[in-house]
Amino acid sequence: MRKLASIQRIKALDPIEGADAIERATVLGWQLVVKKDEFKVGDLVIYCEIDCLMPAKPEFEFLKPRGMRIRTIRLRGQISQGICFPLSFLPADFEIAEDADCTEVLGITKYEPPIPACLAGKVKGKFPSFIPKTDETRVQVLQMLLDKYKGEKCYVTEKVDGSSGTFYLRDDEFGVCSRNLELLEDDENSFWKVAREMDIENKLRSTGKNIAIQGELIGEGVQSNKLRLRGQTVRFFNAFDIDKFEYFQFDQFYELMSRLNFPMVPVITTEYILENDIDAIIKMAVRKSEICQDVWAEGIVIRPLSEKIDLILSNENFNNGRVSFKAINPEFLLKYGE
Ligand code: ATP
Ligand code: MN
Repeated sequence: MRKLASIQRIKALDPIEGADAIERATVLGWQLVVKKDEFKVGDLVIYCEIDCLMPAKPEFEFLKPRGMRIRTIRLRGQISQGICFPLSFLPADFEIAEDADCTEVLGITKYEPPIPACLAGKVKGKFPSFIPKTDETRVQVLQMLLDKYKGEKCYVTEKVDGSSGTFYLRDDEFGVCSRNLELLEDDENSFWKVAREMDIENKLRSTGKNIAIQGELIGEGVQSNKLRLRGQTVRFFNAFDIDKFEYFQFDQFYELMSRLNFPMVPVITTEYILENDIDAIIKMAVRKSEICQDVWAEGIVIRPLSEKIDLILSNENFNNGRVSFKAINPEFLLKYGE
């Protein structure tokens, strides 16, 4: 689970052209607008990321017109993501330490979009423990990962905005899962419908392996169908070897997708040398979708060509240790009010 609000240091303060009352602050890898002279470089502050739902308290009243939700905004041409509050907003007995999580103590919860009926399905059980759930950490909180892996050969795919689906074959049994649950077969459920339309069960059987593939369900009825597709489909981004408990390397994944004739998420490049520069990575995420050129892509996902697991990523705030992360296109977030 992501740390939505935490104690962080103001890394930099820079002027915004044509604005005297506000300035641009850098906190972690995020940039946001703050009132001039409210903070100094080096100050510890409470930093609240986008997607925070703030509690109904007088100090957060000003967010009411925005549904109490912290979103990406643009002020005087400057994109602003997140909000800083002074440490005095914390209860007196809260122990001040850089990076301390203060989401709960402030009564903050996460904004989650409602799940449409066609995706919810009938629950068969928990998400299987023999497959990792899908997730990606935001690059803005991964400076230490970039320090360590800069120069690594990576591939970059387009992040498509839909709903995560997992399809597996294990000991002869075929299963279909949404992001967090395994689903019973039913004609109304989109994940099962596309599984049958795309003949996923038979194709997985043809591999002769215990295997899972994971992708994003997109199309009509899903996340406002921003890519303006007809019908529904899945664009895959993972193959997982259940017996080895290992992801496929990119080239093996690519080969599998071609052989089974399954669509992948768009591959933007397979020759990206990882830069130690969060801003440059965010810039790369500002792009139109390869699927529908008229609309903003949601962002990008970056992974090394040779899969890596790293313990710095395997704590409760990050993923399961896989070196893989996302950069969300701020223009996409602005456009859709996120
Ligand atoms: P957050 O953790 O940032 O609060 P979240 O957990 O809802 O948000 P998403 O923004 O949905 O995360 O991003 C992670 C998801 O992106 C993955 O679970 C996966 O379903 C989806 N996804 C879409 N396109 C890709 C891609 N190209 N590569 C990997 N995952 C992708
Ligand atoms: Mn997540």
